[in-house]
Formats: sequence, C-alpha cells, structure tokens
Amino acid sequence: MEKHPSARLALKWLDEAGNHEDITYGALLEQANQLANGLKQLGLQQGDKVLVMVPRQIIAYVIYLACLKSGIIIIPSSEMLRAKDLAYRLRNSGARAVIAWSSVTSEVDSIDEELPDWAWKIAVSADHAEVLEGWHGLDQLMEQQPSSFTAADTHRDDMAILAYTSGTTGNPKGVVHSHGWGYAHLRITRPWLDIREQDIVWATAAPGWQKWIWSPFLSVLGWGVTGLAYNGSFKPHRYLELLQEHEVNVLCCTPTEYRLMAKTEGLEQYDLSQLRSAVSAGEPLNQEVIHTFERHFNITIRDGYGQTESTLIIGNLKDAPIRLGAMGQSIAPGLVEVIDEDGKPLPAGEVGDIAVRTDMPALFHGYYLDPARKEASLRGDYFVTGDRASRDEEGYFWFEGRGDDIIISSGYTIGPFEVEEALMKHASVKECAAVASPDEIRGNVVKAFIVLRDGVEESPELVKQLQNHVKNWTAPYKYPRKIEFVADLPKTSSGKIRRIELREAEKRAFRSEQG
Ligand code: ATP
Ligand code: MG
Repeated sequence: MEKHPSARLALKWLDEAGNHEDITYGALLEQANQLANGLKQLGLQQGDKVLVMVPRQIIAYVIYLACLKSGIIIIPSSEMLRAKDLAYRLRNSGARAVIAWSSVTSEVDSIDEELPDWAWKIAVSADHAEVLEGWHGLDQLMEQQPSSFTAADTHRDDMAILAYTSGTTGNPKGVVHSHGWGYAHLRITRPWLDIREQDIVWATAAPGWQKWIWSPFLSVLGWGVTGLAYNGSFKPHRYLELLQEHEVNVLCCTPTEYRLMAKTEGLEQYDLSQLRSAVSAGEPLNQEVIHTFERHFNITIRDGYGQTESTLIIGNLKDAPIRLGAMGQSIAPGLVEVIDEDGKPLPAGEVGDIAVRTDMPALFHGYYLDPARKEASLRGDYFVTGDRASRDEEGYFWFEGRGDDIIISSGYTIGPFEVEEALMKHASVKECAAVASPDEIRGNVVKAFIVLRDGVEESPELVKQLQNHVKNWTAPYKYPRKIEFVADLPKTSSGKIRRIELREAEKRAFRSEQG
C-alpha cells in the first residue's frame, strides 16, 4: 500500500561527527506548526521580518516553514556573517527578530548599533541547552504548543523572503521575493533539476544563501522527495563517500565543489551508479570537470545560470543535448535573451547582455527600499542581469563574464571565463581567476592568478608552459601576459571567486608604480 504522504521521509540528516536523524513530512509539519504558534505567542505578526541564521540542521527547515506559514518574512543569513554584516542587514530591513544557532549568538550580541525595530533574540541549540541571558529559547517557544496551525492569509504578491545577494561585487542588495515566487521557482526549475518521485536529492548549499531556498528547501520539500542534509565542511572524498553510501539520485553542487572533487586522486574507488541527475550553478562550470565526471562516473554535469534576483533561468535541461562549455538554453522559450543597448535581441554569435523578460513570474519585486536600482536595470521588456554572453543558433548561451569582469586589452574584449577555462585544462592548475591588469600600452593585459595542484612547484618554465597552453586552446591574443601563483583566491563566503578584489589590487599597484 502507498504510504500516507505524511509518513514519507522528508530529510535524512547527518553531520561530520557521525550524528544522524531522519524526519518525516508529518513530523516536520507538526514541529513547524508548534513553532508558528510559539512565534505568534511571543508577539511576532504577519509581515514582520526575522533574520534566520541557522546552519544545515533540521530545525532550519522547521523555522523556514513556520515563518512562511505565519506570513513572517525570512531574511536568510549565513552563520558565517559577522556583526557588521548582520547589523547592515538588520538596519536595512528593519527586522523584528533574530533566530540564531547557539554558536553564533555571541556574534549577534557583539552588534553595538542602536536598532529600534529589533525586539527579540531567539537561540537554537543542538542539545536543547539552557536559555542564554537576553535570549528566548526556540525549544521553549515550541514546548506545549499545539501541533496544528492555520496558515496566514497571504497574497501571491506579499513579501515572503528578503534575500541579500552574495555581495560578490559590493554591498549585498536586499532582493524581495513574494509567496508566488516560490511556486514559480518550482515550476520553472523542474526540467533542470529533473527530480522524480522516490528520489534521494542532495543539494549542498547552506542556509543563508538563496540557493538553499532554491534546491534543498523548496525543490526537495516542494516535490515531496527525500533530501540528504549533510552538516559538514566540504571534503572531496567525504562528499563522494556520501553520494555512494546514500545512493543519491540527484546532486546539486557548486562548480567549486565539482572542481575540487574532479581534481582529487582515487576517483575510481567510488560507485555513483545511482546518480541520475547532477547539476551545477552559481559560477561558470569548466569543461574539464564535466569530462572527468563523465569518464569516471558516466554522468554529465548539467550547468545552469541564475541570480538571486530571479531563479535559475538558463540551463542544460534534462532531455536536451549538452553543448559542452555552454550554460544551456533559456529555461522557457523566449524568457531569456541576449540583448543590445536598445533592448533588442541580438543575432546568434554576438555578445551582449543577458536579459530576462520582466513578465516572468519568478522575477523579484525589487531591491528593498531601493526601487531606482531595479529601474536602472530595466531595458525595454527586459531586466538586465549584468552578465554578458552570446547565444548560438540553437539558443545555447555562452557565458563571457560579469559585465565588470570583462577585460578590454588593446581594443579586444576578452571574457575571463575563456582564459580560465583554458588554464583549467592544464594538469598543474587547481583553481584560477583571470582579471584585467592595467598596462600603459595596451590599456589592460590579461593577468591570471593561479593556485597550483598540490605538489606542483612554480617556475618561470611553468609560466611559459601555461601561456603557450592558453594560446593553443583559445585565440592567442587572450593569453595571460602576466601570471601570479597564489595559495588561494579571494572568495565570498558562499565560495564565489571575487575577481573584483584582484582587479582592484592590480589597479592600486599600477597607480603606485606610476607615482
Ligand atoms: P552581488 O550581486 O551582490 O555582487 P552575486 O551576483 O554573486 O552578488 P548571486 O545572485 O548569488 O549574487 O549570483 C548571481 C551571479 O552568479 C550571476 O549574475 C552570474 O554572474 C553568476 N552565475 C550564476 N550561475 C552561473 C553560471 N552557471 N555560469 C556563470 N556564472 C554564473
Ligand atoms: Mg548580482
């Protein structure tokens, strides 16, 4: 007999120390209802905002569900944020409460700004320990509350989530998403994720990032499948072990995670034969990584492109043939285009701005308290993403780079991604970033910052070798005239490479050289 839906397994949770716990849909919902009742009793109301800073724990799912059902607006925050980042979000949003994991309560307590809207601090701990001075305990709030709750009467256009962007290029921006957005996200991203009934889905993003809402939260729970939730740091071998052990069917990772898995030794020891769908998003995915996974595991990683401002809007969809190196096709016909300065779609092969139709249902409502900022990105019928690409005859998008990351050298326009892609094909390269470095004669030259694979020594010969390697893979004018070996690359806390930081440092160095 088919199990009652509430008896289905919602989450298989485990952590680095070997603790584990399973929870059904029924139990998850009961806990969410208890919390919703508790929050209401505390004084939180529909329309209030709550900053949530809880790692990959089952309770994170409970909190998000409770807030959504109560009409309380969630501000997702990574537990890696520091007091000044938190103060920025609390001030900007006018949040009424903070819900924080016990390991970060002291960071919250070190905020020394006056924040008049902020009334409650709620702490969550794994061991349900005693309540901290000045804090409410989340367990205590849930205790003895009824396990049923009537959902608030929310409208499709009411704000549900206030998501701050990754801050890859500057101050994070508060992106407003409505309740209707969540539904649109589920429908739009289905042909990319390819989640099927009975699947075990592992989406590795951590709460605090929009990608956690996209995949581990909305797509897993929204399609009623079982999610694997691993609260541990990224280690390539551990990830591969988990994929094998839990017979994961759908995997959603960042390019960095795939890259580091692909570059580890001993891949042949893992059996990932249950893996049917593997997707990547957030940053460019290198072809080399796709090849490695195909060779070892017979699975093709499908890249997808999206933004906090919308959802995944370009992707290698489940039944479409993969075009290696391309991000995929518009997730629905006509939804995404490459446009020119007048807002007109460009012919195939020409580089322009990636733009998404403003009438698409998963586009954000605006930047919080900053309507002009969205206005500035509107062009004709489109919202301009700020990223550059070209599109081929079959509608596949080829990523060039973030608008600001594009390198202009001797009048040539060079996308950093192409240079990085070529470098990644070299066996000595673990990670790299290409940026513009100011140059008296050429305006700028391409400079590559390279992290070498363990055990590889830097040398002038290696520099030459890498330069020749790039010349062989791409148009020779794109080769990095400058190469610097580094121990690691500057990244956002979600793991994205911050080329802006490298570029700014190059500019500063150039200016001081000029006197
Ligand atoms: P901020 O806007 O604060 O500088 P951010 O743009 O990194 O931060 P997100 O909304 O998390 O914040 O990231 C979206 C961006 O990530 C896209 O605009 C694009 O530059 C990049 N991106 C996402 N997916 C891909 C992909 N598949 N290939 C290349 N780039 C991608
Ligand atoms: Mg952005």
